[in-house]
Amino acid sequence: MIVSTVVNFRNYGIKTAEDKASITAEIVKIGLTAHMVNGITDQRDYFLKQIGDVEKISQLWIARSPSVVKQYGEGHNNEVPRDDIDKEVLETGNTKSITTETLSKSTMRVTIPFAASEFQTPSCMGCHEAKEGEVLGVVSMVMDITELRMGSIRTVLYNMGLTLIAVLFVFIVINRFIKPFVSIFYSIRDVMNGAKHGDYSIRVKGSKNEENSSLASLLNSLLEKLQHTFEELDKKVYVFIKNKNYVKEADPLKNINCTIDRLSDIYKFKQTIENDKELEDIYNRIAYVLKNHFNLNDFTIVEIDTMNKLKKIVHSEKECHCDVIENECRADRINASVDSTVFANSCELSKLEEGKEYICTPYTISNELQLVLTIVTSDEKQTEYVRSIMSDIEDYITTARPAIVGKKLMQTLNKIARVDQLTNMYNRKFLDEFADISVPQALRANTSYGVLMIDIDYFKMINDDYGHDVGDEAIRIVSGVIRKQIRKSDLAIRYGGEEFIALLYNCNEENIIKIAESIRVEFSKQKIPAAGKTFSKTLSVGCSRFPQDSDSIWKCIKFADISLYQAKEGGRNQVVAFKQEMLDNKEMGESY
Ligand code: GH3
Ligand code: MG
Ligand code: MG
Repeated sequence: MIVSTVVNFRNYGIKTAEDKASITAEIVKIGLTAHMVNGITDQRDYFLKQIGDVEKISQLWIARSPSVVKQYGEGHNNEVPRDDIDKEVLETGNTKSITTETLSKSTMRVTIPFAASEFQTPSCMGCHEAKEGEVLGVVSMVMDITELRMGSIRTVLYNMGLTLIAVLFVFIVINRFIKPFVSIFYSIRDVMNGAKHGDYSIRVKGSKNEENSSLASLLNSLLEKLQHTFEELDKKVYVFIKNKNYVKEADPLKNINCTIDRLSDIYKFKQTIENDKELEDIYNRIAYVLKNHFNLNDFTIVEIDTMNKLKKIVHSEKECHCDVIENECRADRINASVDSTVFANSCELSKLEEGKEYICTPYTISNELQLVLTIVTSDEKQTEYVRSIMSDIEDYITTARPAIVGKKLMQTLNKIARVDQLTNMYNRKFLDEFADISVPQALRANTSYGVLMIDIDYFKMINDDYGHDVGDEAIRIVSGVIRKQIRKSDLAIRYGGEEFIALLYNCNEENIIKIAESIRVEFSKQKIPAAGKTFSKTLSVGCSRFPQDSDSIWKCIKFADISLYQAKEGGRNQVVAFKQEMLDNKEMGESY
């Protein structure tokens, strides 16, 4: 703006000076012409001097063209061109102006031509021998334009002053009214940015401005409340999670969200298993979570009855990589995780191929029950991942614990109802259920059973001679002998007083007889204690085959009973296998 003003003012000043010069030149021309017309040309010096004395015109002179000099001479003031500018204007007929500017002074030199014209009044041609338009002379003047320049500088300074005042005013207005709002805006922006990334500790900076400080304190109290609530929530929700290793985010909202997600998953899991009917359903549910929620594809869950030292694989995803059923489980024994990455070949039972690792973790469910989870990994990344989720898995298993204990208790109660208290063998109730549920399955799976009906010979005599307690002991000894002679897959049932049934799993006739014989022989060797002495007894066995003899297990039991009857009839202390001819026997045939 200043440069524009300076340039404009300078141009305006030069233009004004030029206009002034041309008016002055016109006046000189008119004045000289008037002197000429009045015949007082001699007195023109006075006139020129007067004009030259006009303020701001520091010099004024006229110069005649060569044609005028030729016609009228140089005049008594030697009116010849004084410099090249005069000569140039005389030649070209064009006005020329030159501005000279120093720090302290500015001058303008203007040279204006007088051109001959016939149409002027009076006509130039009346006195001059000249052609139309011919330059007769020039009037040159030097004018002082310092004042003009100073004027422009003054205007510029004035404008600058005004602009400065305006800027100052705007600055004060901004500082007083707008800056506090802008600064609180930036402060709120910082607070919001912090909150976006979970940092609720940043506060809005207040200012002297009353409105701002009340806004800042309002926002700060809101932030205070938010920060406090989130921290409290985070702490309270965090205690529900067993996994204290998980990396907490800086943002409490994210933590709360994540924790609530985990709690919600566990709660849903808890609700579902509470409605599961069987213990197997709960184990399957845990396996489902391991497979689908934790993306594990090679794991085994082993249930260990710590009291009876019984082990059972309750789920095996892929395969069980060790012979845990027949051997002692290290994780169970030391009641701590066994990790092959911590110490290679930690567990001697492992039959894992090279490159694979295992983590076996025991989970105590109750005093009598332990679960051992074996997770097999195939690379370091997977092992790392498994380590990171172990606590989460523990959350699920801990959640399932009451339901497992409840179901186990039910199982125990059911088992008690199906187990004979004297011999710890299954009872008749079990046989009824077994016949209803497992026998049809066995038929479909082409499974066969050898059926043994075992009865002590002359048992009544024991009771009569030694008393009921000795009779009970004899029953316990028979049950021990039967259990010893049969395999794990076989079943032994106390059918009645001193009558037992053994169901021999997938056993051919030869082996049925062999096992029956071994029971008979073994029992006959037993010494039954009674009143400080011992005595021995014998037993008889009747055998049949399911489904070869009949596809009804009850009929097979009856056939074994018929055979037993034959054994008793045959003199006792013997094994008799069922033959169809036995049914032809008149006495038997009547019933079948
Ligand atoms: P047999 O050689 O013909 O079998 O003659 P036995 O004397 O053994 O006759 P039986 O098998 O009919 O005997 C059954 C007896 O078993 C009847 C009952 O007094 C006795 N008894 C049944 N249950 C029990 C029990 O739990 N304890 C004792 N001590 N005796 C029982
Ligand atoms: Mg008997
Ligand atoms: Mg009997």
